[in-house]
Amino acid sequence: MTIGEALTHSRILLEKHGIPDPETDSLLLVSHITGLDMLMTRLEKNRPLTTEQEQRLSSLLLSRTQRKPLQYLLGEQWFYGRRFIVDKRVLIPRQETESLCSLAISFLTDRKNGTALDLCTGSGAIAVTLAAECPHSQVYASDLSPDALDVARMNATANQVTVSFCEGDLFEAVSEGLRFDVIISNPPYIPSADCKNLQQEVLKEPVMALDGGGDGLDFYRRIVTEAPHYLKPGGALMMEIGYDQGEKVSSMCVNAGYVDVLVHRDLYGQQRMVTGKRPL
Ligand code: GLN
Repeated sequence: MTIGEALTHSRILLEKHGIPDPETDSLLLVSHITGLDMLMTRLEKNRPLTTEQEQRLSSLLLSRTQRKPLQYLLGEQWFYGRRFIVDKRVLIPRQETESLCSLAISFLTDRKNGTALDLCTGSGAIAVTLAAECPHSQVYASDLSPDALDVARMNATANQVTVSFCEGDLFEAVSEGLRFDVIISNPPYIPSADCKNLQQEVLKEPVMALDGGGDGLDFYRRIVTEAPHYLKPGGALMMEIGYDQGEKVSSMCVNAGYVDVLVHRDLYGQQRMVTGKRPL
């Protein structure tokens, strides 16, 4: 089979199984097994695949028809211009979360030797991005899942940054006495009952990274209450939220005594982040 034939075969197969974007998925999967970039894959249509490449492609296509997320099959996702290793142990970083990182980066850039803590770090996408973009800051990150932390550590190493990782429930394992300029989090925020009705690919992601309890707000209640003990005066709490949670999470922050509480929109115009500061 040539690369051109592999592309056509993959596209038709994925299309038949109702995969949303068969053209892109085929191109990425064929590029992945040949090791060529997307442009070269398009140009080298007549190059034959080896038997081993054909076998790898059929097994990847089978997994994709079973709705395994494309990023898990490729083993990677790009986030804020960097490559992150992803597998079923971690949530796949979403583009929307890049906006949350941008907020933290501008805040940290204004402060010398800043410190940041990323709660529910998962793949480490946020923590690694902050460490890379703010080289004068010290970045800490926690997660309850040792499996996720293994992936996050690989991502810090692969991106050549230092992040202090700790295993624990939110602030539980954060060293006594540490105070942060920024506490950032993209916690699980989907109401438990909705977790069953997600897109099939999302159902293959770790439920513990998605399930935010009965009303989806369990993590915000705990983070908003506990964060002031770990923030420096004037330090900021920055959280990603679901598109319909802006009002509830921002009132939670106002009621807990935060100042400058704001709801921010993502690049698609959806309410996506809430920030607030510990008073000076
Ligand atoms: N912080 C990680 C991310 O934004 C994981 C979030 C999570 O597991 N809920 O991708």
